[in-house]
Amino acid sequence: MAIVNQIPYFSEKEHSFDSIILYMDLDAFFAAVEIRENPSLVGLPLVVGGNPNTKQGVVSTCSYEAREFGIHSGMSISQALKLCPNLTMVRGSFRLYSEVSKRIMNILKHYSPIMRVAGNDEAYLDLTDVVSDYEEAKQLANELKDDIYASEKLTCSIGIAPNKILAKIGSDTDKPNGLVVVRPLKIAEFLSPLKITIIPGIGKKSSKIFHDNNITTCGDLSIIPYQLAYQKFGKTGLKTWKLVNGYNTENTDDKFNSREIKSISEERTFFNRPKDWKDIDVLIDSSIETIVTKAKKKNMNFRTITLKIRFQDFETFTRSHSLSCHVISKKQVKEVVNMLLEEFKDKKPFQIRLLGVKISNLIKITDNQKTLTQFF
Ligand SMILES: [Mg+2]
Repeated sequence: MAIVNQIPYFSEKEHSFDSIILYMDLDAFFAAVEIRENPSLVGLPLVVGGNPNTKQGVVSTCSYEAREFGIHSGMSISQALKLCPNLTMVRGSFRLYSEVSKRIMNILKHYSPIMRVAGNDEAYLDLTDVVSDYEEAKQLANELKDDIYASEKLTCSIGIAPNKILAKIGSDTDKPNGLVVVRPLKIAEFLSPLKITIIPGIGKKSSKIFHDNNITTCGDLSIIPYQLAYQKFGKTGLKTWKLVNGYNTENTDDKFNSREIKSISEERTFFNRPKDWKDIDVLIDSSIETIVTKAKKKNMNFRTITLKIRFQDFETFTRSHSLSCHVISKKQVKEVVNMLLEEFKDKKPFQIRLLGVKISNLIKITDNQKTLTQFF
């Protein structure tokens, strides 16, 4: 408890709704390819994996018909046969799966230049700069589904959300051949009825602790005080609590590690209302420390500094200022932020809900330049 009481704010960005992420997962991929290649398998409880002669090994993928018997990936073949004695087993043609996977990933590439392949049957696409809103993202997802089906006769499930974890959860809730859009302001509402185990990372062990505390759904967790979530379930508990309450727990600056970094920012929400300007100052110093440290690690200098300020009524302002040359100095960021903050000094500190600091107009500096900047 003591530790939590020392946390005056959440360090993750709150409701940073500036990203649109699509997650695609092929439905029962290996099994679907086998069925496509051999239509006599349609409608049968089918598993791919293991050795059909010795009946040993583990299930790699199973058809939806097999899932109805309680069979799942990773289960031993012997266990699967106990659940369904009439199970059809296929050894699997992994070379074929990999070829099909490559072709599908090539289709996906046409939909966004920023993509992360997460496995042979799943990938994330960053649609932020591709579409203007969620409606357009949904249309694009439908086109993508049609495209995949037309060329490979395979279906997939898609989730679209402001971050990767929610896009994945979205796709998991509607399989096979689903399409789920989780809009930023609907996150908590969407998660509320879902079982807590839908959250990636909540395994058997954690879910037992949650169940022992009468928490079965995401909604059950969302209504307990955050201190209790931390006390009972530790860091994972607190992170999950934030997720189920609609906070964005993902850093969107380097979400795919492949995007050219355009800015580095930190936004923080006061959990307890700030008492005075000293509280504001502490939070700003801490944000500046974080972003300048990140910039230093990436060998980036910056020229533009932006302040974002949101009040309790959710009215939000952003103010920017560009320096005459590129710098890497906490002091200069602080000076600019203080200057930009002047405009809001007639407000009361407790009215402030969120503060963000961003540095942009970045340039990469070489070692020679680094030595030079040390003199400034
Ligand atoms: Mg899959």
